Amino acid sequence: MPPRGARVEVPFGKRTLVGVVHGHQPSSLKTLKPVKQVLDEAPIIDERLYALCEWAAGYYHHPLGEVLNFVLPTLLRQGQAARPDAEIRWRITDRGRHVTPDRLKRAPRQQEALALLAEHPDGLTPAMLEALSVSRPALQALREKQWAEREEHLPQVPPLPADVLAEPALSASPEQRLAIEAINQASGFQPFLLDGVTGSGKTEVYLQAMAPVLAAGHQVLVLVPEIGLTPQTLRRFRQRFAVPVTVMHSGLNDRERLEAWLAAGEGRARIIIGTRSAIFTPLHSPGLIIVDEAHDGSLKQQDGLRYHARDLATWRARQWNIPVVHGSATPALETLHLAHTDRYQWLRLRERAGGAALPDIELLDARDAAPDAPLLPSALAAIEDTVRRGEQALVFLNRRGFAPVILCRDCGWQAECPRCDSVMTWHRSLSQLRCHHCDHQQRVPRRCPECGSSNLIDAGAGTEKLEALLSDHCQAPVVRIDRDTTRRKGSLDAKLAEIRGGAPAVLVGTQMLAKGHHFPRLSLVVITNLDAGFLSADFRGPEQAAQLLLQVAGRAGRKDLRGRVLLQSRHTDHHLVRLAAAGDYHALADTLLEERRMAGLPPFGHLALLRCEAMSMDKALAFLDECAAPFLQHSNIDDDSVNLLGPAPAPMEKRAGRYRAQLLLQARQRPALHAVLDALVRHARGLPSARHCRWHLDVDPTEMV
Ligand code: ADP
Ligand code: ZN
Ligand code: ZN
Repeated sequence: MPPRGARVEVPFGKRTLVGVVHGHQPSSLKTLKPVKQVLDEAPIIDERLYALCEWAAGYYHHPLGEVLNFVLPTLLRQGQAARPDAEIRWRITDRGRHVTPDRLKRAPRQQEALALLAEHPDGLTPAMLEALSVSRPALQALREKQWAEREEHLPQVPPLPADVLAEPALSASPEQRLAIEAINQASGFQPFLLDGVTGSGKTEVYLQAMAPVLAAGHQVLVLVPEIGLTPQTLRRFRQRFAVPVTVMHSGLNDRERLEAWLAAGEGRARIIIGTRSAIFTPLHSPGLIIVDEAHDGSLKQQDGLRYHARDLATWRARQWNIPVVHGSATPALETLHLAHTDRYQWLRLRERAGGAALPDIELLDARDAAPDAPLLPSALAAIEDTVRRGEQALVFLNRRGFAPVILCRDCGWQAECPRCDSVMTWHRSLSQLRCHHCDHQQRVPRRCPECGSSNLIDAGAGTEKLEALLSDHCQAPVVRIDRDTTRRKGSLDAKLAEIRGGAPAVLVGTQMLAKGHHFPRLSLVVITNLDAGFLSADFRGPEQAAQLLLQVAGRAGRKDLRGRVLLQSRHTDHHLVRLAAAGDYHALADTLLEERRMAGLPPFGHLALLRCEAMSMDKALAFLDECAAPFLQHSNIDDDSVNLLGPAPAPMEKRAGRYRAQLLLQARQRPALHAVLDALVRHARGLPSARHCRWHLDVDPTEMV
């Protein structure tokens, strides 16, 4: 019988589908159909990974089948053999050789197969068998009689080098040494928060903590943010260690992804570096997990299985009984709270490595600035100065395109997306209006569609406009880095390499620039347009704005150049803006945590969001009302109660032609919340109105839109 976690082919209506074995049932059950073919001898999803899938299915209230499907590399999901063909051989056995043909008189296909195997003493690959039209069931039957055998030639696990280090480690600072020792002294499960300011050498801590783990023959899993997987990052791991490094990210093709998955599961890969989905990789002998930039939003998946890789990393570390390190200069408030309450061991790096100083952040009052000017004159002057001195400047603006809106001066019309509750962004270089929510595109109108006036103007600024403005003013190349300029494979790396080259330049970019990059000649950072985050109604707004601010600021001033950061704001008196500008993330975090405590928000309370999209707002709201109805009596204020808030239209009411509403569930205790979610999801699945809308549950949501 195939074991749990092995793939089988099963009939489904007229089709044949690939399934994963979950358990065995007596065959008398009429509702079950017999398996057509077993695809794996051994589980392709090992026991540990299967347990993770089951846990994630339960915690995120997502069907287990979909979780398994999500976790399997595409080729395996499609039923392809896990091993390349050349590595499998069918052979006749000694016993098979002594079988006289008449013993298979009643099984001509087996007879034929056995004769062919006898003619090929070196064995036949599955492709050869296919070409010779040998029947699979016949082969299986021969195998059960032990007249034929199937051999797998697994690729060899390369031996561990005598020294896993390929280059000597840097000499660690006292703070770094304490952190490295703490991690290496952990026996079994132990989560760490490595809380180190930008440039404090967190990566060096990872590298030195990894060395003894690798030397002991264990594997290390490293999770990085989506855009953190640059050649520069990879190079640091590959240069340091003389062991195979496997990379997993969305840019791999199906074959590469499967190969990476197998290499990790068989222990051929010693270091596995990947983006969030790499948390679902089978590992042969795990020894340590590292979550780099653990505050990063890309660790949370925002569709399908809405998991948080940061949280799953800690779960897996407990399952594997190994340490896990969450590293960040701006830890998520949830993680910080775990450190405050001693559930995570708190390791701090307060100083920058190599004696570099943290940059000061100067507040520039933008209240009186022209509404259209993205840069204050003083900021522009500072940029010009910087390039004149032969250094580099970075201007951060978290908005792509030329201008975020086009409007009519005469009647006030604005170019809005016909499918969303949102204005269209003008991309001048493409002569297009684009919606950044649904990607709807249209031509830029010459006249106002409302009043016919040709008096159309743009308002506000995006990176494209900023690039044009800076090109006019500065005597140095302007390099724009955003999703529009880095679509082509390799173009981001090329641009980053150009900047690292060190010639004077001005970088303009979105949050793609915020993470992990290290630009030795960058001495000035100008940050525009973070006010919206600090003032946001979304309770995570200020936290995210502060993280972005300090991460971007952290690009300035490394090694020998002292850094300077200018923050333009129209709210320079706002207490959160002031705290953030003081550069003291922990003071800011404490303030925000206190606000969260009062409001019962994470990490002091737990949330889930039931979202619904329908062709009308009424339908969406009605569905959520029906979902909520049986649970309304829970709404009181004891400790184990669950509050239902809404349903209400989502902050963005319409998106891609659909109306969106949501129901928020809030509870002090997780078990109470999950008990309600369980019942709620079961109830929702059974509702007839569910057929008229799309809905999903988001547990621990990070985006409230
Ligand atoms: P972080 O990830 O904390 O922002 P990095 O690991 O990128 O910091 O380190 C910043 C820079 O400091 C890198 O160039 C790194 O090589 C250097 N560095 C780190 N640790 C040391 C050390 N102990 N001695 C000298 N340089 C170091
Ligand atoms: Zn008009
Ligand atoms: Zn749209």
